[in-house]
Amino acid sequence: MGGQTGMNRQPRSGIGMTSQRTRDRLVQRLQKAGITDPAVLAVMRSVPRHLFVDEALASRAYEDTALPIGHGQTISQPYVVASMTEALLAGGRLEKVLEIGAGCGYQTAVLAQLVGEVYGIERIAPLLQRARILLRELGIYNLHLKVGDGVEGWKRSAPFDGIIVAAAAQELPEELLLQLGEGGRMVIPVTSGNGAQELLRVTRRGDEYHCESLGTVRFVPLVRG
Ligand code: SAH
Repeated sequence: MGGQTGMNRQPRSGIGMTSQRTRDRLVQRLQKAGITDPAVLAVMRSVPRHLFVDEALASRAYEDTALPIGHGQTISQPYVVASMTEALLAGGRLEKVLEIGAGCGYQTAVLAQLVGEVYGIERIAPLLQRARILLRELGIYNLHLKVGDGVEGWKRSAPFDGIIVAAAAQELPEELLLQLGEGGRMVIPVTSGNGAQELLRVTRRGDEYHCESLGTVRFVPLVRG
């Protein structure tokens, strides 16, 4: 069964912003915004997002907004994390999930509690190093993390039954399509001609890939190399 999580870390500071009540309110907002999967909501209620941002921003951690995490990157908006996770899980339980753009590790922490194992790739080493430490402190162990270009995927551990990409691609990365197992699904933002980003869910059936649009989104770009 999914992730074994302790979540027994002491709050770093401040009672109000780290309290369960603040997270409960966030979950109410997510429900209002259309998130319905009870498992996803339960995990969003338990993951201490304030620990994934700088202490100076901790008081804003339970606003439904993206926040800077350094190196020009952001922690995704909780609604986006919840809806991408919900979209990924909609077809049933996933054992092996590849996450591209692990960043501070927040989405990783959410996923790890809902799937068998997470394989996370992040191209900025110091971000991943911080994520590694925090995830371990939180008692989340069902994951493998590496620094690298996520566009290449993680060949040695493929195929994956789920792939989630947290940065906007110019086109569907071919290598990721190939590393998707039969019936596997990938949730990925793709930039279209006019610069708008569309969130897509791609499901593999044999050599065919079925594409659905999940709406408009706003992500940092997927950077090669
Ligand atoms: N998943 C994070 C969001 C991080 S923002 C969260 O839970 O909040 C997107 C991340 O994708 C950034 O950290 C960025 O460095 C990373 N990224 C961009 N292009 C990448 C690539 N080609 N390979 C791996 N990571 C990439």
